[in-house]
Amino acid sequence: MTINGQEYVKTVLTNVEQQNPHETEFLQAVREVFESLTPVFDKYPQYVKENLLARLIEPERIISFRVPWVDDKGKVQVNRGYRVQYSSAIGPYKGGLRFHPSVNQSIVKFLGFEQIFKNALTGQPIGGGKGGSNFDPKGKSDFEIMRFCQSFMTELQKHIGADIDVPAGDIGVGGREIGYLYGQYKRLNGSVSGILTGKGLTYGGSLTRTEATGYGAVYFGQEMLKSIGETYQDKTALVSGSGNVAIYAIEKLTQLGATVVAASDSSGFIYDAEGIHLETLKQIKEVDHERISKYVEQHPNATFTEAGDKTIWSIKTDLAFPCATQNELTAEDAKTLIANGVIAVVEGANMPSTKVATEIFQAHKILFGPGKAANAGGVAVSALEMAQNSSRVSWTFDEVDQKLHAIMEGIYSQAISAADEFGKPGDLVFGANIAGFLKVAAAMSAQGI
Ligand code: GLU
Repeated sequence: MTINGQEYVKTVLTNVEQQNPHETEFLQAVREVFESLTPVFDKYPQYVKENLLARLIEPERIISFRVPWVDDKGKVQVNRGYRVQYSSAIGPYKGGLRFHPSVNQSIVKFLGFEQIFKNALTGQPIGGGKGGSNFDPKGKSDFEIMRFCQSFMTELQKHIGADIDVPAGDIGVGGREIGYLYGQYKRLNGSVSGILTGKGLTYGGSLTRTEATGYGAVYFGQEMLKSIGETYQDKTALVSGSGNVAIYAIEKLTQLGATVVAASDSSGFIYDAEGIHLETLKQIKEVDHERISKYVEQHPNATFTEAGDKTIWSIKTDLAFPCATQNELTAEDAKTLIANGVIAVVEGANMPSTKVATEIFQAHKILFGPGKAANAGGVAVSALEMAQNSSRVSWTFDEVDQKLHAIMEGIYSQAISAADEFGKPGDLVFGANIAGFLKVAAAMSAQGI
């Protein structure tokens, strides 16, 4: 008896839901991808026979471990660390580490799952993984961060390797943390530069890695706008967040002629009609590690609105770049943005729009670039960092930037072609899910059960 795509996807999904009933974010990510895959299984019945979806959805390995460390007062603290080695079908596990109090198994699984498709879309030989800890870096001293990173790596080092699993940064893990993690790995194993990406430029890092996620999202958005004969010139934009992704999205948007009028952090958002002054924002967030409200002290024409009912998405704009965190943009926000005339939404963060928000944008034919395609620039340049490390070369900023640009154009065209081929022209959510999946599926199928 042959089973059609829809029945097959439904059966696997029901199992996933039954086995992981409390993993809300994970199930949200899974449902969004699975909904797109029905026509794939109609076209490739052998993937049903190989039960490929059920095999893919089960992480190859989940490692969870204790991270004990001593704070500045001499008190012993304990956190939980994770590494989900989700899929090695197309290369070593690759994906960031997130340090944030919200981190739990559901979050790392959702991020690891998204990473599989994102990494496949980059065209680089990297599998999917993700990790992190519920450690809260906020308010911690430099030495506390260092001791935590050392303890975290003391356990993690048993499970990673340049050809096995290559972590990088994510929320709460930037250049400083990667340095401490790398130092500890080296102390225990000797120097292996390919063990982490996002490293400092003096010890094996790649130029353009810091800028890559933000720049990449803007390049992706540029392709989206091109499809309707538009450019960034004279457009207004909102960029939520003020971390690494947001800062470099703002930088590139500004270079390409847009005016970014707002940015945010968890305390609230700033609005500056003249355009966010990037040097001030960088000083506050990257150097002083302060709250975003400080911005208005230097730019009295700007306003700060404390986090509450009113969100950054209440501001009238042409373009929206959610670059903060998952589910930050709700159905209400989507309706407000549409009522205010938004043209395009480009996700710099991972799954920043809720499922209903995404559906609302799509129902209103708003250009919508999903995170797993639009924010793939970061991990793409991580793969370029790995390539430079293993061949002992360093490319210039422009060389890497050009490769990044080409990769983002490639991701856009793959998603558009898949959307066309499988019957939903222009739908980048559908197209990115299918294009990413097809690569992983081909590799899994070729390698046997
Ligand atoms: N954390 C980033 C992401 O979500 C980058 C991962 C990496 O460079 O490995 O894709």
